[in-house]
Amino acid sequence: MLQVYTGTGKGKTTAALGVALRGAGYGLKTMMFSFLKDDPYYGEFKVYAAGFLPGFVLKQVGRDVFVDFKNPDPVDLKMCRKGWDEAKKAILSRKADIIILDELNIVLSARLLPVKEAAEFLTKHKNDLEIILTGRNAPAGIIKIAELVTDMQEVKHYFHKGVMSRNGIDH
Ligand code: ATP
Ligand code: MG
Repeated sequence: MLQVYTGTGKGKTTAALGVALRGAGYGLKTMMFSFLKDDPYYGEFKVYAAGFLPGFVLKQVGRDVFVDFKNPDPVDLKMCRKGWDEAKKAILSRKADIIILDELNIVLSARLLPVKEAAEFLTKHKNDLEIILTGRNAPAGIIKIAELVTDMQEVKHYFHKGVMSRNGIDH
């Protein structure tokens, strides 16, 4: 099925990682693509690199800069395209039972990749395995085809009080 975790509140990526953890208990394999990221200090990347979770593979797709969504650099467009092509291959190969496309909602809402193209591909293959999309601003074209959509609504967040991103909790 296709699941979508969106909204402004905290919990989208960690919910997807929770499914990977739960699935591992049943021998399910997860392949995660972290779009717009190139940062080995994420806990989930460390888990993958250390081999702590059997069957869990993580690939970061991006560079360690802030993407200007209003005027994206051609390099960022190219990296998103390459990441999406790899994700499609992973879906078609069925090497994983769960595919997490982290921040793909943002990539699509910012038009770094066409929503129509992604929706068409996902519609075709979402019954073959579990696919999870995360990120704010999930486009209507994705919500429409998903079997599950959760909107993480922010009620409170310590970031507004100036608390920095914490190791193992926020990244
Ligand atoms: P998490 O990875 O903790 O589940 P998320 O995937 O729901 O969070 P993202 O939108 O991917 O959230 O945000 C990435 C990180 O930025 C998260 O650790 C989140 O806690 C943090 N964050 C959320 N809201 C804000 C904000 N207003 N300002 C700064 N950082 C924020
Ligand atoms: Mg996230």
